[in-house]
Order: sequence, then C-alpha cells, then structure tokens
Amino acid sequence: MKNIAVIGAGTMGNGIAHTFAQFNYKVNLIDISEVAIQKGLATITKNLDRMVAKDKISEADKENTLNNITTYTSVKEGVINTSLVVEAATENSDLKAKIFKELDEACDENTILATNTSSISITQIAAVTKRPDKVIGMHFMNPVPIMKLVEIIRGYNTTDEVTNFIVDLTKKINKIPVEVNDYPGFVANRILMPMINESIETLYNGVAGVAEIDTVMKLGMAHPMGPLQLADFIGLDVCLSILNVMYDGFKNPKYAPCPLLVNMVMAGKLGVKSGEGFYDYSESRKAKTVAKMFS
Ligand code: NAD
Repeated sequence: MKNIAVIGAGTMGNGIAHTFAQFNYKVNLIDISEVAIQKGLATITKNLDRMVAKDKISEADKENTLNNITTYTSVKEGVINTSLVVEAATENSDLKAKIFKELDEACDENTILATNTSSISITQIAAVTKRPDKVIGMHFMNPVPIMKLVEIIRGYNTTDEVTNFIVDLTKKINKIPVEVNDYPGFVANRILMPMINESIETLYNGVAGVAEIDTVMKLGMAHPMGPLQLADFIGLDVCLSILNVMYDGFKNPKYAPCPLLVNMVMAGKLGVKSGEGFYDYSESRKAKTVAKMFS
C-alpha cells in the first residue's frame, strides 16, 4: 500500500497527512473547504520547519514530505487509486454517515475505510456501507506527528485481516497501536472527557479559577497540561460532541456536558482554533492569559 486518502484537513487531518507523507506514503488530502486545505498545508509546513530546526529531519525530508501530499476538494477525485482512506472530518454522526456512503460508492471494493472519530460507534458508521468488514477506527492523538498512540477500534464486523493490516501499518509509521472494542468514547475519551467535564464543572461551581484548576492538575498529578488548557487544545466543540455521544450511548447522566461548556460552544469560544476558550490565544497559541470572561 502506498496511496492513502485523508478526509478533512483540520487539526487532525493535516497531522495524519503529514505523518503518512513523512513515511513516504502518497497522500491525497481532501477537504470541502479550500481555505481549510491552505491552512492545513501551512500547518504541515510550519511543523516540518520546526522538525528541521530541531535536527529531527533534513531539509530534503521536508521537501519530500510536502511533495508526497496532493490536495483535492472532491472526494470522488481524491480517492481514486487509494487502498486506504482515513476520515478525519468534523465529529458529527450524520456527516460521517454521508461521507462513508460516498466513500463506499467512490472507492475500489478492496479499499479499507478507517475513521479517526473520537467517540462515534464504528459499527454504526460501518452500517451505512456495503463493506462493514473493511471499516475500522484509527484514532490518532493530537498533535499527530508527535503523539505515539493510535487506538485501533474494531467494529462489530471488522475482520481480523483488516485489523492486523491496520495494526502493522500503524507500526510502519512509528506509532504504537492499542486494540480496543467499540463502545462510546472507546478508552481514551471515556476516561479523559469525564475529567475535562469535571474540571469545567469545578470552574462553573466557583470552586477555583482556570489557572488554579490547571495548576492543581499539573503540579499535583504531574499532567503536562491542565485539563482546561487541554480542552482548549482539543477544541471545546469536539469535547462537547464526544460527551454528547457518550451521554446518548450509555444513557448515563455522569456524561452530561457541563452547561458552561455548552454555552461556550454556542458563543463560538472553541479554544485555540477560535482564538479564545478558557485561555486567550489572540496573540499566541501558547495559553498564557486566562480569557477575559474568567479573569
Ligand atoms: P476540525 O474541525 O479541526 O477539522 C474538520 C475538517 O473537516 C474541517 O477542515 C472541515 O472543513 C472538514 N470537513 C467537514 N465536512 C467535510 C466533508 N464532507 N468532506 C471533507 N472534509 C470535510 O476537526 P478535528 O479536530 O480535526 O477533528 C476531526 C476528527 O478527528 C473528528 O472526528 C474528531 O473527533 C477526531 N479527533 C479529534 C481530536 C482533537 O484533538 N481535535 C483528537 C482525536 C480525534
């Protein structure tokens, strides 16, 4: 396998494209938005420049990686001759169903369809296709070029052959695969999101401020980043979608998103990507200043 399509050039899609391209796969990066593609390519270039500056790769490696990426705004054209598609579009089950129906029709019958969904059922996504045996979860972590883990999620019908193939491929791009079963939030987000939600609830209840909550978790639990900063980094809209998927999937109120999170998403405060969340990113992506509404 040498040709891979990545759907979505956002936070995760550009990182996934970067990683495969760096390991010499030919990547077709597809997004409905030309603006998102340009932003994605700029991020990939900036991240490669940082790797060159740190002597992790050479200037030639950087050029080779960029040359391995071709961009498309049409799924139909972008998936031609690809043997794997990794979908990393917006976390929304109706959108994923629409994309997977389109992929099923446009791709060769042997093409494996993987999704980077954080929480949506692989079995549910697979059910809209005529190849549920070839649909699998490939859950990369953010930032993709740096984080080692990939959660590999088998849907109800995913075959051993497809799972083993994806596990091997994950190792080839120097990542560590961990196989898990298909239940809402899988493992990573089932544990992470309640912690983030509880941190927001702690802020909402006035127990402590943003900086205090994050400092307690950083210094007290040795977390490299506080949970509120991490939520900003992931995207508050993404956190809300994941909590809603778990709340609906388990019918358990412990996953109910905090009303403050719901309000912030409705107000367009999505974290790093919108310039403001719990912290202010208007001047830098580094969270130095607590956002005005919390200071
Ligand atoms: P994002 O909002 O940064 O990017 C999503 C991209 O998908 C956008 O550029 C959008 O234009 C594009 N898109 C929407 N509809 C499309 C379509 N029909 N065809 C092609 N492109 C389309 O989102 P993200 O944070 O990169 O998340 C993508 C996926 O990765 C989600 O399923 C999310 O749950 C998952 N994920 C996110 C993180 C994270 O930290 N953000 C971590 C792991 C997994």
